[in-house]
Amino acid sequence: MRQVRLIFLGPPGSGKGTQAQRLVVRLGLVQLSSGDVLRREIQAATEIGKQAAGYYNVGALVPDDIVSGVMVAAVGALPPGTGFVLDGFPRTVPQAEVLERGLTALQVTIDAVLDFRLDDALIIRRIGGRRICTRCNALYNAEFSPPRQAGVCDRCGGPLTQRADDVESVVAARLDAYRRQTAPLVEYYQRRGLLHPVDAGGPVDGVAAQVAAIIASLGPAA
Ligand code: AMP
Repeated sequence: MRQVRLIFLGPPGSGKGTQAQRLVVRLGLVQLSSGDVLRREIQAATEIGKQAAGYYNVGALVPDDIVSGVMVAAVGALPPGTGFVLDGFPRTVPQAEVLERGLTALQVTIDAVLDFRLDDALIIRRIGGRRICTRCNALYNAEFSPPRQAGVCDRCGGPLTQRADDVESVVAARLDAYRRQTAPLVEYYQRRGLLHPVDAGGPVDGVAAQVAAIIASLGPAA
């Protein structure tokens, strides 16, 4: 089994989570989604959740020190040699720097950073139709990838819901945060020779094929 270590970069709604979930099934990678981690913390009203909620609810990025610690610890908790996809982290240059230091200490290297690209009109359409399983976090889209039965998760039978931050008024703030704070990471990873663009505008299977081709191009896993 191929144990690659990937970072998925891209605006909200670009399909990072959907493709990460596919790699969990196809390659047995572990998906480490900062958004999922924060939603769990907020739902459980933990100390981290309470600190994060005010930012999350308005579509702003949660402060770096809160997110970085949790995510680097999540990588460190994986059994040695485990392949993973970092989905939604890092999202700022300071987060990337903390991650880099953390990975060096853990003697873990990133094989590739996949940059999911698509235009704003499609982002807004995709996010508008997005539904998430409240039980297992599986993702659906009313228009592009609907569940077999409306409102019910194919995978676990759990109820589907719209994320609180997927409403139109919050999406604009999230796109703005992406442009101002996350987009500089494209150059950051380009300079390190790790960046691979993905045309994220097509159907899920077509994007999955691009992701698979990039992984294949990395050669045998270490
Ligand atoms: P996502 O599920 O990746 O779209 O993230 C949803 C929300 O969680 C974002 O709008 C932020 O409020 C917060 N969040 C997720 N990942 C990060 C991160 N790496 N840094 C800061 N905030 C984050």
